[in-house]
Amino acid sequence: MDYDVAVVGSGFSAIAVSVHLLRSLPPSATIAVVGDDPAFGRGTAYRTEFHLHRLNVPAGRMSVFPDEPDHFLNWLERQGRGISRDEFASRGDYGLYLRDTLASLLRDRHARPKLDFIRAKATGCVRSQDDGLLFQLADGESLHARAVALCLGVGTADLPLREERIADAARRRLVRNPWRLKWLSKVKPDDTICILGSGLTMIDQVLTLRARGHRGVIHVLSRRGLVPHAHAGHHGTAVLPDLPDDPLTISGILKALRAQVRAGAEWRSVMDGLRPRTQALWQRLSPPERSRFLRHALAWWNIHRHRVAPPVFEQFDALRRDGSVKVHAGFLRDIGIDGNRPCLAYRPRGLQDVVSLPVDWVVNCTGMERAGIGHSPLLVEMADQGIIVPDRLGLGLRVDEMSRATGAGGGARPGLFAVGALTAGQFWEITAVPDIRVQAQTVAGAIIADTALVKAQAARRKANVLPMSEVETSPIR
Ligand SMILES: Cc1cc2nc3c(=O)[nH]c(=O)nc-3n(C[C@H](O)[C@H](O)[C@H](O)COP(=O)(O)OP(=O)(O)OC[C@H]3O[C@@H](n4cnc5c(N)ncnc54)[C@H](O)[C@@H]3O)c2cc1C
Repeated sequence: MDYDVAVVGSGFSAIAVSVHLLRSLPPSATIAVVGDDPAFGRGTAYRTEFHLHRLNVPAGRMSVFPDEPDHFLNWLERQGRGISRDEFASRGDYGLYLRDTLASLLRDRHARPKLDFIRAKATGCVRSQDDGLLFQLADGESLHARAVALCLGVGTADLPLREERIADAARRRLVRNPWRLKWLSKVKPDDTICILGSGLTMIDQVLTLRARGHRGVIHVLSRRGLVPHAHAGHHGTAVLPDLPDDPLTISGILKALRAQVRAGAEWRSVMDGLRPRTQALWQRLSPPERSRFLRHALAWWNIHRHRVAPPVFEQFDALRRDGSVKVHAGFLRDIGIDGNRPCLAYRPRGLQDVVSLPVDWVVNCTGMERAGIGHSPLLVEMADQGIIVPDRLGLGLRVDEMSRATGAGGGARPGLFAVGALTAGQFWEITAVPDIRVQAQTVAGAIIADTALVKAQAARRKANVLPMSEVETSPIR
């Protein structure tokens, strides 16, 4: 199989790149979207059918097109589910919106490039002799493309524990990937559950359990026991933070933010004001300062920055107040067995003694912001081949400011791009729709420019005239 462009992945990032390519590439171009997820375009986040799973970004900021901010709001309106721009739609609806947006572009078949969905996992990749990449697919096929956007997400989280510290008998009650929802049907109403991790995924799982009639105690264990804050019930005005000059440090930024809050600004407005500038600030931080942020400030950043819709927070908080959800700050040591139940041993933060916690289920909700490339055999192989290079902080792969994969020497590889959380080493703030949609548009634009260049080169090669300047710039070496 041979294509001009391959989009590898099947979540929001893949769909966002695809819709921009469909809008702008000429009808003669060919695109393959290679994804292993049957819920194409919805990924983990938007395939849910639970109405109570809400977006954590207001509907007015969730359009897939950065320059058409009302696109999602208008779609909701047409479905008879119109809401205001500050409200939070259901994630399932957002998945349908993405699918509909793509479908409406594909209906216009003659005016658009050809786009094939290939349902397969890409398992390996080598450089081809003619300036492209050749992917091996799990079904035995191979696929060649001249330009590639890697949109692989970050997979599922590893347990915060080495495998040898988990008793064999406890494994059958250990849910490693809570998004495979079939575990929920095995839970009895009075089972005791321990959720590892206290972020947004944890809140989702708690509310899902309750909606399905679970009434047992739910323990939540994370290193700091910090839980996401709620968005404000009203739309506040973002306050532009007054930040220090270079050399920028994490403590300098924190000091400036605190001063602003002390002077009377609402903290959510300060965070919202910071958001459009986060990528630029991250790029101004030195590598040691970025590491310092990951070590010391990440947990606080997450709860202030990744907030939940107010009604979701209220439901969760009521469970916490009536004692049926108990949040613990501590360090997990091992998961043993007590009778036939899993039993967690953990050291509460600030104490020396280890506490035992027997439960019926252990559920991993530890989140994936720092996944690196190790979760993906494809990326590991691409790194082994020298096609990509892991970024220094272990957040994903090295890309430049245009999201082009860069080699060990920092030089960009034209024609090979990455989109989404895998590029956090360069952008940091690149896990949610408002940021990924801008990146997807930029990447699609660069691919379109590259594709035009490749086609021009191919035509000249055919005529046996290739200017030397272009020999140096042909894509993907
Ligand atoms: C539960 C949850 C709720 C969220 N809610 C919001 C929200 O309300 N608002 C918001 O802005 N953001 C939200 N996010 C953030 C969300 O991650 C992004 O909005 C976006 O969905 C990321 O999409 P992605 O395509 O980069 O990654 P993913 O959604 O992870 O998709 C990657 C896809 O690529 C496929 N894939 C991986 N490797 C291969 C391979 N080798 N071959 C083929 N296919 C492969 C995977 O199967 C997967 O389907 C949420 C995230 C989660 C997990």
